[in-house]
This record gives sequence, C-alpha cells and structure tokens, in this order.
Amino acid sequence: MIDIHCHILPGIDDGATAMEESVEMAREAVKEGIRAIIATPHHNRFYENPKEAVIQKVAELNNRLMEENVPLSILPGQEPAISGDFLEEYQKGNILTLNNTQYAFMELPSGDVPRYTSQILYELQNFGVIPIIVHPERNQGIIERPDILYELIRNGALAQLTASSICGVFGKNIKNFSLRLIEANLVHFIASDAHNIQSRTFHMQRAFEEIGTRYGNDFASFFRENAERLIEGKNVYKDEPQKVKRKKLLGIF
Ligand code: FE
Repeated sequence: MIDIHCHILPGIDDGATAMEESVEMAREAVKEGIRAIIATPHHNRFYENPKEAVIQKVAELNNRLMEENVPLSILPGQEPAISGDFLEEYQKGNILTLNNTQYAFMELPSGDVPRYTSQILYELQNFGVIPIIVHPERNQGIIERPDILYELIRNGALAQLTASSICGVFGKNIKNFSLRLIEANLVHFIASDAHNIQSRTFHMQRAFEEIGTRYGNDFASFFRENAERLIEGKNVYKDEPQKVKRKKLLGIF
C-alpha cells in the first residue's frame, strides 16, 4: 500500500519532531502494510519547505531507514497552501509535485475556499499540473456548500480524503460528510496525513476496512490502485462526479 500524504520528515513542520520519531512513524507504517510514503511537509506562511529542502530531508530519512532495516521508501512531495501568488511560487520552482509527477497537492484554508481557487486550479492545469485538493472534508466552506468541491472536480481537480476522517477520529459529522463525498465520486485518494503515532497516526487499515465493508472491496482497491498509479505518474481512475445529496430530514425530502 502507498500513503501519498504524510508528515514524516523530521523537524520541519508540525509532524515528526526529530529523526527518532520519523523512524517510529516508519515502523508503524510498515505494520499497517504501507511500503512507500510520499513525504508531504507543509509549505505555507508558518513553515517554509521549498523543493530543495524537502529533497534533501527525504534522502536523509531514506538513508536512516536503510541503516535501521525498515522496509519503507520515502518519496518527495509537499503540501503547499493555496495563496494569491501560488503560480509565481510554482514558476520560481519552490513547489514540489508528488514524486516528481504531474500531480501536486493544494491545501485550502480550513475556514473557507478563497475566491481565486478555481482560477489558480485552472491555470495550474494549463502548466500541465493536476491539482489534488487535500482533505476537503475538513474545509468549512465545502462542508457548508459541497457544490464548490463538485465544481472544482468537474473542472479537473482531484481530491484526497484523510483516512482518520473515515474512521471517525474527527467526529461523526466529518465521518458522515466523508462518506457522502465518496458516494458522490468526489474522492480519488485516501491517505493518512499522519503527523505522529499518537493523536494523528495512520489509520489506513481501518479506513480501508470501513470502505470495504460499506461499499465492497472493489471500492477499496480503486483507492489503493490510484495511489500506485499516482506515484508512477499514470492517469488515475475517476468516476463522473455527482452533486452531494442533501441529508434527508425526517424523511420528507
Ligand atoms: Fe497534511
């Protein structure tokens, strides 16, 4: 299994604090059946992790895992926050795509979806980059108006859901909303977004079990295969996006 979103690099964001913790996280990932992780440190106004810095840290961690005989590969990536000058950052070479493919993460602020989002996603695609919106299930603007996500997906963006959201770690509402996004074909990847092995751990096995039980194993394989396809730069599977159904109230709608 591949985990495409993880804060496993030591000491550069709010993920692993030091190399020892990175190694602990790696061991935990292996226990979950993960064989490769894309390291995706934050790149925003709190943590600056431009391309070259990430590549160097990835090499350091891979060396250490080799020394410790941990059978896990770390691949380069980044979780850049959207901003008005995102395209400039990209053109300057500060944005790192996922494992050097055409896919790149895009983090929205948790409170809303900025007006310029669709414009930036459109222009990125003109540069040949396919944007992946991370954890839309935790964005307040999308929770209130899921059609925003539907439109972004219809216009070529992809989306990644967090495994722990499906397991209920962020509460029942986020869990239910996550399931509705999956049912509306608005999700293309499931990833851990693990930050440590305590409060924000992997939960990948649990999430896939839950998806398998609810929707069948083919559905779980769809997400697993998409992660494999992503790291190889292949086209990923997608189904026609649907609008999120409104919750039935007292069964009268
Ligand atoms: Fe993250």
